[in-house]
Amino acid sequence: MSGNSVLFQLFNLQLEAFIDQIKYSTDHTKIHLSIQKAFSTYFCPCCESQVHEWLDWSSSYRKVECPYCKLHPRQRLFWLHLNQHPELLQGRLKILHFAPEFVFRERFSIMPNLEYITADLNDPAVDIRIDITNIPYPDNTFNVILCSHVLEHVPDDRQAMSELWRVLKPGGWAFLQVPIDSSLTETFEDPTITLPSDRLCHYGQEDHVRMYGLDYPDRLEAAGFIVNIEDVHQRLSEAEQLKYGVLAHPEKLYFGLKSINSV
Ligand SMILES: [Zn+2]
Repeated sequence: MSGNSVLFQLFNLQLEAFIDQIKYSTDHTKIHLSIQKAFSTYFCPCCESQVHEWLDWSSSYRKVECPYCKLHPRQRLFWLHLNQHPELLQGRLKILHFAPEFVFRERFSIMPNLEYITADLNDPAVDIRIDITNIPYPDNTFNVILCSHVLEHVPDDRQAMSELWRVLKPGGWAFLQVPIDSSLTETFEDPTITLPSDRLCHYGQEDHVRMYGLDYPDRLEAAGFIVNIEDVHQRLSEAEQLKYGVLAHPEKLYFGLKSINSV
């Protein structure tokens, strides 16, 4: 389907919703809000905002950021995945969330079934400041671990993965997203590359210590995880991809599961 016909399809959907909303309304404020809602092109599922335009994050990563919650396509895809699979957050769960995104922290912290703990190495706003390669919790503590775009900053990521697996309960799941260059069959890392400018050049960001390749799941498996790759992008229609600002960002989501039979 061409970009124009996707836009036309989206416009039609919005127009139908708009007509439904104003058909029986005599409240002018409501009608005004409906007009605004109907003609906003995009929608951020994370903060549930109508978005007129996604913002640039950098000169090479453009039209990606929600102007309200500041989250990116990978996070919108993750939130859509959680919405599609409510069973992932059902029951009494203990969750450890590294480098928590503000909006997600707000949402998880008010869910009464969750014991929710935020963690980071440096951020003073989290519950606990910890080193991910030496997690101060006993084995089999957490039902869920959220660790998105963290491991590419960690020099000994294999030790971090091993620690994440250790503190995850058997049957638990971890969201372990990292940036991946799909043109690399093997992860590229060189400990002699230490200058921020060199890291930017080789790894895409000044504080990254490697660029993961297609062998990323192998590292997770070596740490003990069963790897589950979710292609949420592919499950959306083109109109939905456009609406959620992920059309040009077919990022797959990486989950690590701990076998129920683990000891
Ligand atoms: Zn948002």
